Amino acid sequence: MGLADVHAHLTLPQNAAIIDELIANAEKAGVTTIITNAISAADNRAVSDLAERFALVKPAFGIHPVETVPVDRHSDSTGRDEQNSSFSVDAVLDWIRDNIEKGFAVGEIGLDGHWVPERLWEKQEQVFTALLDLALEAEKPVIIHSRKRERRTFEILAEKGIKRVIWHCFGGKLKLAKRIAERGHYLSIPANARRSKSFTAMLTSLPRELILFETDCPYLSPERGRNSQPADVALTRAYTAELWSASETEVEERLAENFTRLFGVEP
Ligand SMILES: [Zn+2]
Repeated sequence: MGLADVHAHLTLPQNAAIIDELIANAEKAGVTTIITNAISAADNRAVSDLAERFALVKPAFGIHPVETVPVDRHSDSTGRDEQNSSFSVDAVLDWIRDNIEKGFAVGEIGLDGHWVPERLWEKQEQVFTALLDLALEAEKPVIIHSRKRERRTFEILAEKGIKRVIWHCFGGKLKLAKRIAERGHYLSIPANARRSKSFTAMLTSLPRELILFETDCPYLSPERGRNSQPADVALTRAYTAELWSASETEVEERLAENFTRLFGVEP
């Protein structure tokens, strides 16, 4: 038994540069599983390679919803723009189809209405549903990113009959989070929970059997002035123990049970 970080980005440059340190810190903190989520074509390969180097790294293959359509997210993005014809979602889908058996989950995938303008939503949904079909066919759980499009994402998952789901960094209303939980989907809580009213509310109001921990590292840091890292799930365990009036061991056991129920293997 151990702790799992179900949503990390260890291949992003900030993390890749210090990977040995991050893995050592995670092991020291009792983290036994880090699900590293891919976001783009090149990243899928990098995630696959990293999982071969470190036993505790489990690969999730996918395409970040912002990467499925031609938008420029921010200055440090890939620099891709609408003129860049070399961008091919189909090639990424083919790669994922060919390698999906090596994958622990399909992620991160979903819908984003924050960075993606409405005129591209239909295209974004097409890629999302194609990825869901791949997950269904291969019987893999999915790890969902949804921003400003939570309801539509929920609808599509229901229409497709997708049951093994983790909602990563859920930013919608608590009422919808409860409906999501009623459907048996899991919600992963980031390491900045202590600083967040909504994640605190989720930890206290949602069924405990559907809670998992994540970091989204290097993002969503528990402390100002540094990046998050997988070891930070230990801080969420401590915070959750306070909220649940439980011991840290009890929290860890509960979370490990949840993980095992979803993935069919212990963390
Ligand atoms: Zn992410």
